[in-house]
Amino acid sequence: MKSVFRAFLLLLVVLVVVLVINTVRFESKQLNVQAVPAPPLADQALEHFQQAVRIKTISFGDTIPPDSGQFFAFHRFLQSAYPRVHEDLALEKVKDYSLLYKWQGSNPSANPIVLMAHMDVVPVEPGTESIWTVDPFAGEIKNDTIWGRGTTDDKMNLIAIMEAVESLIAGGFKPLQTIYLSFGHDEEVGGTGAIAIANLLKSRNIKAAMVLDEGGIITVDKVPGMKQPVALIGTSEKGYLSLNLSLEEYGGHSSIPAPETSIDILSRAILKLRDNPFDASFSKSTSDFMDYVGPEQPFLQKMFFANRWLFESVIVGIYEGSAGGNAMVRTTIAPTIFNAGVKDNVIPTIAKATINFRLLPGDTRETVIEKVKSTLADDRIKIEPTAFGNEPSKVTPTDGLAFKAVEKAIRTSFDNTIVAPFLMVGATDSRHFSEVSDQIIKFSPMSDPIGFHGIDERISVDGYRHGIWFYEQLIRSFNE
Ligand SMILES: [Zn+2]
Repeated sequence: MKSVFRAFLLLLVVLVVVLVINTVRFESKQLNVQAVPAPPLADQALEHFQQAVRIKTISFGDTIPPDSGQFFAFHRFLQSAYPRVHEDLALEKVKDYSLLYKWQGSNPSANPIVLMAHMDVVPVEPGTESIWTVDPFAGEIKNDTIWGRGTTDDKMNLIAIMEAVESLIAGGFKPLQTIYLSFGHDEEVGGTGAIAIANLLKSRNIKAAMVLDEGGIITVDKVPGMKQPVALIGTSEKGYLSLNLSLEEYGGHSSIPAPETSIDILSRAILKLRDNPFDASFSKSTSDFMDYVGPEQPFLQKMFFANRWLFESVIVGIYEGSAGGNAMVRTTIAPTIFNAGVKDNVIPTIAKATINFRLLPGDTRETVIEKVKSTLADDRIKIEPTAFGNEPSKVTPTDGLAFKAVEKAIRTSFDNTIVAPFLMVGATDSRHFSEVSDQIIKFSPMSDPIGFHGIDERISVDGYRHGIWFYEQLIRSFNE
């Protein structure tokens, strides 16, 4: 008995030693560079941002055409606000409203880079205008913050890119590699503008060294255990699939209901899907995230991240505890549309529902459909994918040029900020650029923006100032 106890004790000691060694060896991956303070913000730069918010470049829906007056007004605004950009860069309009600028580099053999943003914004939900603190399209500044629809998504990126390029040209800067600025007009409704631009670049055999689009942000307090701000650099993006489920089950008079109606069958089917979630796992971007954030954490958390071979289920459990965390570790299932019935005393024959899936890298649209079929195991229910969808993106390597460049630009323009790769759970226009570049980065240089697609969307003036600075540093870094 004593020897069993001794063996157990020995094993425990070995385990603790292994855990501690792994933890001590779990070294910081943060680039050791000194941040350079951002210069003060010119009044004009602030006015430009306000003007941009005032133009209602709204995407109402994929079947409603863009309001050409607003989009053309936005083009004219860019033209007058950024005269140097329009003098030095070639401009092509794509699909009428999307813009592709080309800043010719001095080294024609160098692979170009592509900086992306989108000019459209989501509508302000009717009935919520009065809940807003300000008029959502007034471009108001209040409490050192710029308020309005589109400030964070995605006009800040677009305007900051334009400010940076305008200021670089004014300072005599000439890029070594060609730089494209790609501004889509309908990101919020599928991104046909971005698709057309990607196709155009592909047809010209352009292989970009980097594509940078909106994505992760800098968060001050959303990463548990971290006291420093963390810049989340999207290195991959989840896939997208919607399935229409439908069935026809003879209905009839509601005074004599059958034991099971079409609504019963479809509701049970949806619950069954929700009760049988996809398996949880760490995608490459998420394990990269832990490799970057883990070493910066207090000892206990650091030990967990350094010993994922042992603590994986514990960490998964923590992720699953929140909707946002859960979306990081599995393919999600969200019923979004449910339709049946026309009259209160008629049992409907036809019932339809749409379920939206966001696919973790590793899953494909085909494997998801297979899993749905086998979970439902009900021939009465027809399962059809909708027209729009895409596979999860490839993963951009953290040791590649693009990641390194963005990492360095963040560390030099934002003081005391930790960088970390991460998995984007939302969709961006850059998903259409997989054949233009294998180094796609999804990152927005914004500190704690508020109100994406919601009420009181806003960003601090200081955050905007640092955003411009980030793009300047990034563009300059490619000349070094
Ligand atoms: Zn956006």
